[in-house]
Amino acid sequence: MSTPPIVTTVKARTGGSVALKAGDHVSVVNVHGGQVVDSWAFPTSGEDPYEYMSMEHSRIHHYRLMFRPGDALVTNRLREILTFVADTSPGVHDTQCPACCDRSYRLYYETTDYHANCSDNLRAVMKANGRELAHVPTPWNLFMHTVVEDNAVFKDYPSKAEPGAAVTLRAEIDCLFAVSACPQDIIAINGDDAVPRDIELHHFPAA
Ligand SMILES: [Zn+2]
Repeated sequence: MSTPPIVTTVKARTGGSVALKAGDHVSVVNVHGGQVVDSWAFPTSGEDPYEYMSMEHSRIHHYRLMFRPGDALVTNRLREILTFVADTSPGVHDTQCPACCDRSYRLYYETTDYHANCSDNLRAVMKANGRELAHVPTPWNLFMHTVVEDNAVFKDYPSKAEPGAAVTLRAEIDCLFAVSACPQDIIAINGDDAVPRDIELHHFPAA
């Protein structure tokens, strides 16, 4: 990671991706702080075109609700796909919440017009990469400060990621890493002001 990274800016409310080879690193940089970044990874080789990084399998792999630097994330076929290498944020990254969708905004927040959402952002990213998407897997919600409190009830807090905070991952197999800068602007998960902001992907190729 000594050479300068290839930087991709992902605009607020939109999605982006980077194709990783095994051994590559990618940093998800919270440029302005406070932004939740839904993330997914899909193998680009293998027998199953619908294999995906699975929060359900990764949680049980470590028998914890959240992951720590050093943990490998696994697919629904229990193959290691990414390793969580480093984290300069406070370390809270939700693994429970499904990606927001137009329906969730209408149902929970009573919107009446189309609302940009992470599910459609992922669909657009996959389409741009010529990939089919069987369903929208539960994302790893980087920087999302949703926690389970003592009474087993979910509680949302604004992201505590500072400007420049970054999560760094290493690809264990060739994969497409996809993100959505979450467009949630109704409840305060994207910082105290609930304003979605740009993020960056810094790609460090292994070779
Ligand atoms: Zn979202």
